[in-house]
Amino acid sequence: MDGDWADAKVMLLRYAGRCRICGAELLAGSTAVYTRESRAVRCFTCAPDDPSPVAITSVAVGVATVAAQMSTATAAEVIAGVAGASARREHDRRSQGRERRIRQSQPMWGGLILALTDDPQTTKAWAVGAEEEERLGRRLDNLAGENIRVLHDRRIPRTRANLDHIVVAP
Ligand SMILES: [Zn+2]
Repeated sequence: MDGDWADAKVMLLRYAGRCRICGAELLAGSTAVYTRESRAVRCFTCAPDDPSPVAITSVAVGVATVAAQMSTATAAEVIAGVAGASARREHDRRSQGRERRIRQSQPMWGGLILALTDDPQTTKAWAVGAEEEERLGRRLDNLAGENIRVLHDRRIPRTRANLDHIVVAP
């Protein structure tokens, strides 16, 4: 009995089988422990009497747990991004730059000038764009779910450009 599982390996079953220990049905394509010598299969969770193959069992359970968590984990680890974040940053950079320049060149009147004048249209356009991205982002987020992933404001590698929204669907 002890030698039965000595060469046991974790593998995908090509054929359906029955667990030698608990008698459970093991479907073809499922992962199980198999020993070529006695051509016996058993579930991950069924430990043989012999304590030595227990190590194999625990490794196998670990693999199964990782596989089960993989789909949810990879999805969760993708950072969804914040809609409009790049446009918002560009607006703030331009607006704050203008304020700094005006305060430096007009130490006395800078505050008054800033109170009476507006950011140029080219700066305000970034805020408008950010708001629109935020609005569309919220609408897309409402569609997101199990099968639909929505990402926002993703950089395009090796460029300064960004993609406002990405929707991944089946
Ligand atoms: Zn079993």
